[in-house]
Amino acid sequence: MQTQHAETLVLHEADDAPHYGNLIDGKWTPASDERESENHDPANGELIGYFPRSGQTEVDAAVAAAKRAFALWRLTPAPKRGEILFRVGQLLAERKEEIARILTREMGKVLVEARGDVQEGVDMAFYMAGEGRRLFGAVTPSELPNKAAMGVREPLGVVACVTPWNFPVAIPSWKTMAALISGNTVVLKPATDTPLSALKLAEVYADAGLPPGALNVVCGTGSEVGMPLVEHPDVVGVSFTGSNEVGRAVNVAAAAQLKRVTLELGGKNAILVLDDADLDLAVEGILWSAFGTAGQRCTACSRVIVQRGARAELERRLVERIAGLRLGHGLDDTTDVGPLINASQAERVHSYMAVARSDGATIAIGGEPARDGTLARGNFYQPTLLTEVKPGMRVAQEEIFGPVLSLIEVESLEEAIAVNNGVAYGLSSAIFTQNVNAAQVAMRDLATGIVYINAGTIGAEIQLPFGGVRGTGNGHREAGLGALEFFTEWKAIYIDYSGKLQRAQIDS
Ligand code: NAD
Repeated sequence: MQTQHAETLVLHEADDAPHYGNLIDGKWTPASDERESENHDPANGELIGYFPRSGQTEVDAAVAAAKRAFALWRLTPAPKRGEILFRVGQLLAERKEEIARILTREMGKVLVEARGDVQEGVDMAFYMAGEGRRLFGAVTPSELPNKAAMGVREPLGVVACVTPWNFPVAIPSWKTMAALISGNTVVLKPATDTPLSALKLAEVYADAGLPPGALNVVCGTGSEVGMPLVEHPDVVGVSFTGSNEVGRAVNVAAAAQLKRVTLELGGKNAILVLDDADLDLAVEGILWSAFGTAGQRCTACSRVIVQRGARAELERRLVERIAGLRLGHGLDDTTDVGPLINASQAERVHSYMAVARSDGATIAIGGEPARDGTLARGNFYQPTLLTEVKPGMRVAQEEIFGPVLSLIEVESLEEAIAVNNGVAYGLSSAIFTQNVNAAQVAMRDLATGIVYINAGTIGAEIQLPFGGVRGTGNGHREAGLGALEFFTEWKAIYIDYSGKLQRAQIDS
């Protein structure tokens, strides 16, 4: 690893765009062989910057730095760790607008959503800062006299956080804040499409006084940085969010070394609309959930399961409202829907139109890349509604991850729930109904990690467990107290103050 480094995340300014560094051991450094990748605004193709295209050398350096930092960080009292996280929250709040604008340029989501993305980081920082004064263990009676028994939480060690591009500040915040408050040190591998948002978060940590090496950020691809990190023998835990395909590969690689892994993967989320639903409200909830972030949320609604009596009116209203959605740059405040993250994702979304047609679905509106005027410079796709969709069709089963919504008609609440549950994923679901009994049944029987009543499928709050069932994950939860379960080990401690050898479980 060469020693060249800069005081800030910008290694040097160039005529066209800045060159950014990794953060390793508190220093901003280029890749050792100077390799770089360009990153572009998905709405217009403008060059945002050059980022290190790192490899094994940088992974080794970052893990070594995290390992050194762990020796001190684990012994830093958790309330002191919390004070640093509290400052992170304050600085993120102060810099919210600056970071949100960067995030919108890099990822494409509209500015109000980008602010929300950063706000999740603020909220999580304050929440986890408070956990520094809790991190509750357990004190329990011993079965023997003059003996105390307790369970305490300990950090794991060096953990890897591998994150996707769709929440470029929120997801790295969720993971790193839970990891750090628990006393772990971290190597973060951000998505290739959104490195700058993660570097800005790391800059905030550094400015808040986090010791060098406690958080390292290594930019690069999944195969050159992600997998070497997962496989590194000194990385003891892996927190991964991304696609099912990569999540499985990460799980298999980590299993070979008996590492603990948390996986937050795809979704195929549905909104159920019963005959008695408030359709005005349902339409708002569906539009926000299906076309917010251009449908690129793990919790995005991609299926509307509507009871027969409400189907025609709901379809009519959705087509009318979808026609009015304005596409554009996320920094333009008249924009409703931004671009897709990259050209290959736009192609992938479009490929589903042929699949939909050949399976017998109808494209009620949309179904084409959006290329009018300046939109042609970006990766825009028309907000799309598919009708005549049957539950078994590929568009109703596979995660499309774009602004494509399928309308599925059913007879009853029971059928709606069965259709909701009949997919390989189980992240989020929602029901619109005025019937308290139906809502209660839905809360019980919708087989997803998150259920909303009379709201869309998106909008999770950070103090509750976040995650899903079936193919959405491997049973862990992020956010809330659940996150601490992943990032801590339990240690049982017995203190015998009887002054003689007492033998547990032995009859005397
Ligand atoms: P992705 O799986 O392609 O990439 C995720 C991360 O893994 C990136 O940092 C990537 O560089 C890295 N990676 C890629 N190949 C790797 C490999 N072989 N080894 C190790 N790391 C590797 O996912 P994406 O396209 O960035 O994100 C979209 C997906 O993420 C969607 O499926 C979406 O549903 C999911 N997602 C899930 C949640 C959730 O909490 N359930 C949240 C957001 C996104």
